[in-house]
Amino acid sequence: MAPAIVERHRPKTPGAEFDYTTKSNYKDVHVNNTVLDVEILFNEKKIVGNVTYDLTSVKELSQLTLDMSYIKVNSVKVNKVAATFSVAKREEPWGTPITFDTNIPVDSKVTVSLDFETTQESTAIQWLKTDPATKEASDYVFTQLEPIHARALFPCFDTPSVKSTVDATIRSTKPVVFSGLPLHSDQTGVYRFEQKIPIPSYLFAIASGNIAHTKGGPRSTIYAEPDRLEDSKNEFKEDLEKFIETAEKIVTPYIWTTYDILINPASFPYGGMENPNITFVTPTLISYDKSQVDVIAHELAHSWSGNNVTNANWQHFWLNEGWTVYLERRIVGEIHGETMRQFHFIMGWNDLIESVNSLPKFEYSKLVQDLRKGEIDPDDVFSSVPYEKGSNFIYHLETQLGGVEEFDPFIKFYFTEFSKQSIDTYQFVDSLYKFYGKDPSKIAILDNIDWELWLYTPGLPPRAPFDTTLVDQVEELVNAWISKATVFTTVDEFAEYFQAGELSKVYQGLSSPQKIFFIDELLEKRPKPAFWKEHSVASDALISIYKDLNESRNTEIIFRWYKLKLLSAKTQYYQPLADWLGTVGRMKYVRPSYKLLNTVDHELAIKTFEKYRERYHPIAANMIQKDLGL
Ligand SMILES: [Zn+2]
Repeated sequence: MAPAIVERHRPKTPGAEFDYTTKSNYKDVHVNNTVLDVEILFNEKKIVGNVTYDLTSVKELSQLTLDMSYIKVNSVKVNKVAATFSVAKREEPWGTPITFDTNIPVDSKVTVSLDFETTQESTAIQWLKTDPATKEASDYVFTQLEPIHARALFPCFDTPSVKSTVDATIRSTKPVVFSGLPLHSDQTGVYRFEQKIPIPSYLFAIASGNIAHTKGGPRSTIYAEPDRLEDSKNEFKEDLEKFIETAEKIVTPYIWTTYDILINPASFPYGGMENPNITFVTPTLISYDKSQVDVIAHELAHSWSGNNVTNANWQHFWLNEGWTVYLERRIVGEIHGETMRQFHFIMGWNDLIESVNSLPKFEYSKLVQDLRKGEIDPDDVFSSVPYEKGSNFIYHLETQLGGVEEFDPFIKFYFTEFSKQSIDTYQFVDSLYKFYGKDPSKIAILDNIDWELWLYTPGLPPRAPFDTTLVDQVEELVNAWISKATVFTTVDEFAEYFQAGELSKVYQGLSSPQKIFFIDELLEKRPKPAFWKEHSVASDALISIYKDLNESRNTEIIFRWYKLKLLSAKTQYYQPLADWLGTVGRMKYVRPSYKLLNTVDHELAIKTFEKYRERYHPIAANMIQKDLGL
């Protein structure tokens, strides 16, 4: 029994909490297997084919409803007999669910088969054409289904509560990857896959295009378009197997057999997506200094948290992401030392502050979201909160319960206990009490956790006393810049002080992540918003002294350095930022960059968006459009 404060929130129905973002009657059936057989039609920008579900009814089943959005269904068969169906009127965020008669007695096997095709409006699929300017992506398609876009790829039980094994056959004129293990196929243009571990709908993933591949490790293959393959290999190969082995040591053996990565074209809107067997990533991770491989550690960690133990609905999304960020940082800590893990928590804390301050509603900063009314789109409550507040919560439990030695056995227990299941926060709390149940001192610690504050209260949680070793060097430099900005009057004075003296050595000693933090802190610590604009000589000096930041190919640095330049009102950098926005599609950069450009030069922001709009993923384009007030 969890503490009373948690019990008060627990729903009365048994099992994991109901998912209100699906209209499917998923509780009435068990899905034994899913067979997907589709063809990719590049010219028509359509995916056409069939999905067949092998189900067992858990109650008498007169009708079945599946989630659907921007899909055209041509026929439905129940046990191979044609069934009449009706499609509901569009309602956001659910889409247009499809319902048909089944007349199946309780506890019976039933096969349901739907012929369907996707439409141009699908929010799940991005089609890319060769861009004459960038030569980017000739006939390339990829899907992105989390959280509730699977219904825009195929009719499905679009809830993370439903998991099934999958057999997929995908026909395409270009090589295909899928979130499963590839099988041999005799026919050209026919790609077959199997997923023997049950997965939810949001983890289905397809990409097809001019995709080449190279060995990435004993269990790994790296996929990318040919002109990015070599850079991708250099960036990631060294770490893949090391990450897998480290994660296995902390958690449990890797169950998915292979761990591959696909480097998508620039318009991929996220850092990475943890599709089973094949993580999809943005090419912006290629930073030529391996400083963004922590994203790979993150996506790999999802092989345990998210893909194996899955949040039962999006209210408990923090179970997926909080655990994953925690594990990602454990991997980083094992490889680069505990001070580096602590440094990552401090960096993440800055993200958390920014998220909490910029969410459309303060209550969205709760760890356990309330989506019970259903009409809130999980995309709209998406932020760093489940990631950072969630990982800070797991870290809080780790430290309270006695550190990693005491906590690691629980990690192994948790991921074994709930393997291949979908669970909610209440089951997570139950498992802590179950695991530490025989030790009264540990139960006393758990009883003392402020569950209400961590799980159900919006805003920042209490900050842990992180080890600041790697931060202190940065702070020394930042403080010097801020104090000298009001003293020195020429760039030469700055150069003499920062390039010749002791502080030059401090800067030279900074790692890439520390340089990223350096720029963050120059902005975070400025005494007022217009500080670098008013102290124009100082910001000129920053730009001329740190030439390596101007020349960096690391997008984390490029993005922040533009931010500093624009907030310093350096007009000569507005157009270069606009040009850069034509080369990246990752929302983490494009959304704040457009917002920033919009505040300093509205016309340029609009003109730039109109020019590059087609290059962005539909979700990204929609968000930017909203941000720009168009
Ligand atoms: Zn994640």
